Amino acid sequence: MLKSFFRTTNTVLLIVAILAVGFLGYMFYMSVCFPSAKYDEKLASIEAMTEQTRQNTAAAERETAERLEQLHADLRNVGPEGIAIADSFEQLRAETEEKNAQLAELEAQIARDEDMQGTVEAMRKEYALKIRKLEEKIQSGESEVRICYWTLDDGPTYITSNFLDALDAMDNVHVTFFAANMANDSPNEEEMLRREMTSGHSVQNHSYAHVTNGDGPVYRSAESFREQIELQDAWLYEVTGFHPGIFRFPGGSAWGRSFVPTAPSVIEELGYQWVDWNCNLYDAGAPEKLPSSSLEITRAMTQISEKKIAMILGHDWNVNTLVAMREAIPQLQEKGYVFLPLFQESVTMGEATKAV
Ligand SMILES: [Zn+2]
Repeated sequence: MLKSFFRTTNTVLLIVAILAVGFLGYMFYMSVCFPSAKYDEKLASIEAMTEQTRQNTAAAERETAERLEQLHADLRNVGPEGIAIADSFEQLRAETEEKNAQLAELEAQIARDEDMQGTVEAMRKEYALKIRKLEEKIQSGESEVRICYWTLDDGPTYITSNFLDALDAMDNVHVTFFAANMANDSPNEEEMLRREMTSGHSVQNHSYAHVTNGDGPVYRSAESFREQIELQDAWLYEVTGFHPGIFRFPGGSAWGRSFVPTAPSVIEELGYQWVDWNCNLYDAGAPEKLPSSSLEITRAMTQISEKKIAMILGHDWNVNTLVAMREAIPQLQEKGYVFLPLFQESVTMGEATKAV
């Protein structure tokens, strides 16, 4: 019985011991192993997140690469157009630079031209004053020289260049062109005006519109008359760089003053002089009434030979006048005439230059 008790007790003790050891083991496990398991779990979680991030990064990299590839493809698709636009901008920039350089050169050129124009203006005035002195000497009988101011009205025309060629071919002959913008149509009138100036001839004002009837813009009123002189002055200045200073009435002063009696004072107010002529080729008018070149030669020779200072009226649209000039001028030079350009500063003839 006792043995049985001890066996039972031992068994209980053994069970208790086993339980105690189990409990201690459990406690040990709980105290030592459980935290480790938690860390592992956490580590696994971090590793999982890292892996996820890695995957996300790889996905983003793939997407970026795909988008870049797409962008390159797009660029290749718009390539020629894109290249053309870039090229045109580059071209525009180069052209702008070139234009700026040209502009700077032009500005320098204008400054030089203004200097040159001032010099030419001064030389012209000096020359005009010499002519004026010569006129005074001729009028007082101190000089046997004779002056002819050969004037040509209504140009430039389609044959003005022929007149200029003929004058170039003669020895030291200078004339005066009374230009009228609208009197004749010629494709190169501005070029002709500049050639007249640079050839040493004089370019003067014959109104802008050159309409001789009383209803036209030249003689409609004193205001209109003034405007016509101003318009032509502005145009000639723009083309040649010089203000004319002498006006010739379309149709002559007697005709013009019959419509605008105050015309001489208008001219004076504008700082101008005006002249008519004291010799006339009568080379204008209806075509069937125009004189032959031989008649013009006779008129030039006889009329000019009577004058110490002659101012002859001709027109550089009449080809017979061109022929007559070629013949008459050398003969008149032999008689002692010099052919000079007319300047405002040298007009001393007063009423003697008015229409005869
Ligand atoms: Zn005229």
